[in-house]
Amino acid sequence: MALTVTNALLEGERIGLRCEDGAIAALGADVTPESGDETLDAGGAHLLPPLVNGHTHAAMTLFRGSGGDLPLMPWLEEKIWPVEAKLEDEDVYWGARLACAEMLGSGTTRFWDMYWHPEATARAVTDAGLRATIGAPLFDLGGSPEELRESAHRSLEALAEFGPRITPALAPHAIYTVSEESLRWIGELSASHDLPVQIHLSETEREVQDCIAAHDLRPAFYLDRLGMLSERTVLSHGVWLDPDELALIAERGTTVVTNPVANMKLAVGGVFPHPAARSAGVPVGLGTDGAGSNDSLDLMSDLKIFALAQKHAAADPTAIDAAEAWAVATGGRAPLLGATPLEPGAPADFLLLRPDSPQLAIGELTADLVYSASAATVEAAVVAGNVLMRGGEVPGIAEIVAKASERAGRLGL
Ligand SMILES: [Zn+2]
Repeated sequence: MALTVTNALLEGERIGLRCEDGAIAALGADVTPESGDETLDAGGAHLLPPLVNGHTHAAMTLFRGSGGDLPLMPWLEEKIWPVEAKLEDEDVYWGARLACAEMLGSGTTRFWDMYWHPEATARAVTDAGLRATIGAPLFDLGGSPEELRESAHRSLEALAEFGPRITPALAPHAIYTVSEESLRWIGELSASHDLPVQIHLSETEREVQDCIAAHDLRPAFYLDRLGMLSERTVLSHGVWLDPDELALIAERGTTVVTNPVANMKLAVGGVFPHPAARSAGVPVGLGTDGAGSNDSLDLMSDLKIFALAQKHAAADPTAIDAAEAWAVATGGRAPLLGATPLEPGAPADFLLLRPDSPQLAIGELTADLVYSASAATVEAAVVAGNVLMRGGEVPGIAEIVAKASERAGRLGL
């Protein structure tokens, strides 16, 4: 079925947009509905590309508000890992449904996820109508390389069943939880099967020091030696990357996703060097990280903090401008993340934002989007030509919240 959006505002012009078979068929001032089309009257709302959340652990919405204000390792070892050992498919499903509802309501329609029971996350994303690149977290410290390989193959096979809105990925957790042998194997599998890879890197200064002590190399050089830096790889965090590492990452075409709120909440003590990364030519995206360490999945609010942290760290308000920050948050600075441009032939994924909202009514639109907009400005969200939200309300939200709360209660959270 085709969908035609009428009366939308794009770069100051009133336009129509017609979607067919999940893609944008036409957009422009003269585009009107054809007979039989589903129609959506935008009422003068701003037509914008959706945000892309480059790093999540979606079902960790179940852990929201239970972080205990701890540093990274005690938080993982005391609060997270013991509870994760008890997770069931239905916990992950409802945690991920809650994540999808929250992301959709704040303008994100695509995300990159690393979490247990990845097929339950894929089912949640499919039912919610979003898009995601998903991988099971791979660890082999405390396990074995054979178990890691089995786990990777199991999750890739299960995820391949879900169709085009789910992209299976490899997700080795970090250089301090996966062996050299397994990282090398993951790099080879990614190359031979053209699979995306997502890994945490250089989140804490301690991780860098430990890597130098163990391998006599900084983390990016260590990963490169194992064949893990490629244009298929996403490095999450990158807080402590130095100029030589940024040059290498740019040369390999590897993407870095910065998660400023999670970094600030865990107080890692540094800020991702975005101006240096941009000058080096590194593809950059923005992420929230999991709700366990953020505790929100609202990328629209993290977008402001991203821009502010960059300005503050550089003691320079021109360190990043609103257009650049918006481009990063919508995936426009990292092709691998899967941004969807507003043009014929592209996937029919877009947002409608309220032009009469207090946050957007006055001022230059891009500046408002970065420094003022909140989830309350999102009127409608469309993915693959399907209207997933209209009137600012995610359908079924009450049931999703109730079920996720019930599952969190079961886990003692
Ligand atoms: Zn993470």
